[in-house]
Amino acid sequence: MATIVPPTERTCERCGRHDVWDATSENWVVRDEVGNPHCLHEWDISGKYNPVGE
Ligand SMILES: [Zn+2]
Repeated sequence: MATIVPPTERTCERCGRHDVWDATSENWVVRDEVGNPHCLHEWDISGKYNPVGE
């Protein structure tokens, strides 16, 4: 049975925005109010994050 380990934080590689996961509201919340609000965020978890553990 695979173990799903969701990420708890993410950082945009383009603008530097930092989000953290709010388990209560089940949504990403901005932690560092930086970066471009119109940025097509490239989250650093997208490349290496594997939702299904092997
Ligand atoms: Zn961004």
